[in-house]
Amino acid sequence: MKILTVNAGSSSLKFNCIELPEQKELISGYFERIGSKESFYSIKINGEKIKREAELNNHMDAVDCLNKELIENNIVASLDEIDGVGHRLVHGGDEFNKSVLITDEVLSACKQFDDLAPLHNPPMLACVDAFRKALPNTPMAAVFDTAFHQTMKETEFIYPVPYEWYTKYGVRKYGFHGTSHRFINKTISEVMGRNDLKVISCHLGSGASICAIDAGKSVDTTMGFSPLAGLMMGTRSGDMDASIIPFIMNKENKTCDEVMNELNKKSGFLGVSGTGSDSRDIEDGIAAGNERCVLAQNIFCQRVANYIAMYNNLLNGADVIVFTAGIGENSIDSRVEIGEKIASLGVKIDTAVNDFRGKLKKISTEDSKIPVYVVPTNEELMIALDTYELINE
Ligand code: ADP
Repeated sequence: MKILTVNAGSSSLKFNCIELPEQKELISGYFERIGSKESFYSIKINGEKIKREAELNNHMDAVDCLNKELIENNIVASLDEIDGVGHRLVHGGDEFNKSVLITDEVLSACKQFDDLAPLHNPPMLACVDAFRKALPNTPMAAVFDTAFHQTMKETEFIYPVPYEWYTKYGVRKYGFHGTSHRFINKTISEVMGRNDLKVISCHLGSGASICAIDAGKSVDTTMGFSPLAGLMMGTRSGDMDASIIPFIMNKENKTCDEVMNELNKKSGFLGVSGTGSDSRDIEDGIAAGNERCVLAQNIFCQRVANYIAMYNNLLNGADVIVFTAGIGENSIDSRVEIGEKIASLGVKIDTAVNDFRGKLKKISTEDSKIPVYVVPTNEELMIALDTYELINE
């Protein structure tokens, strides 16, 4: 079966076409700056990357262009050969605890979450509409970032604020990156040959979150009502005292939206270092003796370590710790530094073995109290597998 996975942003669209059950990627690509004059897209096929300019006024134009590429590159002879489309949706509220086939009812249920994810949900739903128009007979699945975390208990998901905020407006922890944490749990369970594992999954990319998983169920996660919570990230602050928001609004005569924008786009690695949001820029800064880069890296690693220790307690002893996503898979130094900061848990990283990027491998020593692995994540494959399973149900 040929399954297309789609991840739409407000001005972007990422896609992969995967053959299942073989799990073979046939083509992938990325449309950027949709709606602006400089729109373009790139596709990757047979290991080769091709960049093309195109006038993309909206997501429908990107879908048309993608369909043309699928036919021109002989992925399909006609669009009917696409057996299913899996859409990543950022928010399923507390309505969806797993992936579902898309129907009109599902879409109208999703619409109510515009309020909870105002930047992400509307363009994602617009993209679903565009695909449904272009491929009216193809089954489509919705795969939610939040769904995996619906197993959290009230103790974890209720904030200690007036309870009516929850009952009236749905103010609670939802958690995100669920598709990645679920993929990590599935992969590490296969590797270790157990399905009752207590896993601490550390998704450390430009967005970052940690999830405590017990026998396949999310128990707690660091992102919250929105993806701003928890760990320090590329440009997001992570946890901070909410009183800072009105304080800065007054000091700098800024609106709440402006301050929130700074917490989302100008904080984290970028905010502390003043240099860049990418951990490679931070590593270069550290090598050049930049003290703000050293500080940014220390804060990041300390916060990751603190959450690992907290989740080890919550799980009453973890069986395995996994590092994944851009930093987790590739930053050799960050893995060592985090390892040192959780030495009190008896964790020992084998620095000789740890000297690699982007592979599935155990990096802890044999006498480490908790084994530590690097596992490359693959959210697209997870979306494709969900879609495949739903179609074949
Ligand atoms: P997202 O999907 O959230 O954009 P990724 O999981 O792709 O994020 O992670 C991107 C981040 O991973 C980069 O911003 C960078 O900080 C980090 N990264 C990628 N490659 C490396 C590397 N070789 N060394 C250190 N950090 C890296």
